[in-house]
Amino acid sequence: MKKSHGPAFRREIKPLMECGICRGATVVSGVFHQLDCTACNASGWICAETGDALPLDVLVQQLSLRLRSTNAELSRARQPIGGAHEQYEQNNRRGAGGTNYTGD
Ligand SMILES: [Zn+2]
Repeated sequence: MKKSHGPAFRREIKPLMECGICRGATVVSGVFHQLDCTACNASGWICAETGDALPLDVLVQQLSLRLRSTNAELSRARQPIGGAHEQYEQNNRRGAGGTNYTGD
């Protein structure tokens, strides 16, 4: 097997910080239009340790890991806790049923 990328980096979440040039917007304003921010590879994020843009392959993986963990947190946060469970189910049925639930 031939590796194209030197030593394998471990799949762990690196500390990232918002790009100070585009302030996380991924683009900077040119004279007529917005340009991709080159300081962060148009990702809005830079390495918190070095302050440099991450290589695209690392960047994609880091963002993916973050997205996954954020999604996992969101779905955990949506889990009803204890007694709230039944009410949640009822609300769900009411909203999904044909009773014209408008939220009033
Ligand atoms: Zn930037």
